[in-house]
Amino acid sequence: MSAPNIETIVSLSKRRGFVFPASEIYGGLGSSWDYGSLGVELANNVKQSWWRWLVHERDDIEGLDSSIIQNRQVWKYSGHETTFSDPLVDCRACKGRFRQDKLLDVTCPKEQSANAGSGKECDLTEPKQFNLMFKTTVGAVSAEDDETALAYLRPETAQGIFINFANVLNTSRRKLPFGIAQIGKAFRNEVTPGNFIFRTREFEQMEMEYFCRPEDAARIHQEFIDEFQGWFHSLGISAANLKLYEQTKEELAHYAERTVDILYRFFPERDEEEKQFDELMGIANRKDFDLKAHSKKPEDAEGKRLNADSTEDLSYFDEATKQRFYPYVIEPAVGVNRTLLAVLMDAYTEKTNDKGETRVILKLKSELAPIKVAVLPLAKNKPEIVAMAKDLKKQLLPAMRTVYDDTGGIGKLYARQDEIGTPFCVTVDHESLEDNHVTVRDRDTWEQERIEIAELKEHLRKKLD
Ligand code: ATP
Repeated sequence: MSAPNIETIVSLSKRRGFVFPASEIYGGLGSSWDYGSLGVELANNVKQSWWRWLVHERDDIEGLDSSIIQNRQVWKYSGHETTFSDPLVDCRACKGRFRQDKLLDVTCPKEQSANAGSGKECDLTEPKQFNLMFKTTVGAVSAEDDETALAYLRPETAQGIFINFANVLNTSRRKLPFGIAQIGKAFRNEVTPGNFIFRTREFEQMEMEYFCRPEDAARIHQEFIDEFQGWFHSLGISAANLKLYEQTKEELAHYAERTVDILYRFFPERDEEEKQFDELMGIANRKDFDLKAHSKKPEDAEGKRLNADSTEDLSYFDEATKQRFYPYVIEPAVGVNRTLLAVLMDAYTEKTNDKGETRVILKLKSELAPIKVAVLPLAKNKPEIVAMAKDLKKQLLPAMRTVYDDTGGIGKLYARQDEIGTPFCVTVDHESLEDNHVTVRDRDTWEQERIEIAELKEHLRKKLD
């Protein structure tokens, strides 16, 4: 099973410390969220999995960490200043403001049950374009309306990669095909953020730009579409909750040859199957648009430079064919926050115990679990048991994230660890003092086995792998 709706995950997250509403003590700030002690571990584990899989395990991708604030020209020549906007509509009846192409995601405040735009009360204006980039000014002396000091918070991590293409190419001595990967924050002044961490104004992206010869682009694009589905499966997301969506010619960005989105079933409560799915990531074939757009050489029909400000030509010289060209780019772009939400939803399971009580189990893959092992004393008033449990925790800690907990009865402690996805609990009891064995309990099956303390670390390590 998986979570019946996002609300279930919102309440689990708050209750257990994965995600909290941001600025909560001041009434919150629309759709901003803070990641608690478990949430930050889970997010880090998702990012590490992505980075290890792409940058370390393959041998054709370099990492990068570029600035959030770049020269404004980056966003001029990438096209963001003129085209990075969403169609915005106002409702004359409820005074709501919505994104025209995402009306399904929001409810009309006047008609609580109807999606915006679909109810009889809704009276929408014609759409107007609203640029999503957050503006700021650079420099202590600049006035707020000083155009020369204007800068943007990056709305995607991709452009930082394109503008560093020559730097990475020259220093890494790579030959095509190769990729550059980056993880980092991005900011979009979304018209209608919402659905918990699904759509927020500040979020994190894991983007990779893979540079290749034009004739190889279609094949490589398809390979990444297949491989990313495999990566999501490796995170424990079931195939039944994933779906591919081929963007139509009308939906494609002007520079894109083909874009395929991987959708996740974020809204299982919706009646129509098709409406249950929404974008988890996009994989685009961006042709040679980006490197050309940031290069000084390309000219229009009259011989005028298309980019009057760039000082670099981002073309590639192929030693074998002695040809110079702009590589094509395949871009798999995935949100950290949406991946985390999909992982939590898919891991959510309920199980009934002997007493007929419903318990929540978060069946996270061990690799992603914020805590790998919890050491629990069966009797916290017995100093020898407590000392042995604390000592075990210390022994395990360097090899795996381990916690000690004695804040309740054993049933309650197990339930808490199940709910936060800890794969194993180790219980120290009276017998442990005699026979040097402890009980290892499995989160998913609730089965227990006695293991000798001398073999405990190795036993757990094998299970966690
Ligand atoms: P959408 O159509 O949902 O607005 P997009 O197609 O504009 O998304 P991309 O620009 O392709 O998104 O960004 C790549 C990924 O970044 C998305 O697939 C998603 O996982 C994540 N992402 C984009 N916008 C947001 C947001 N506002 N909040 C959280 N994650 C986001």
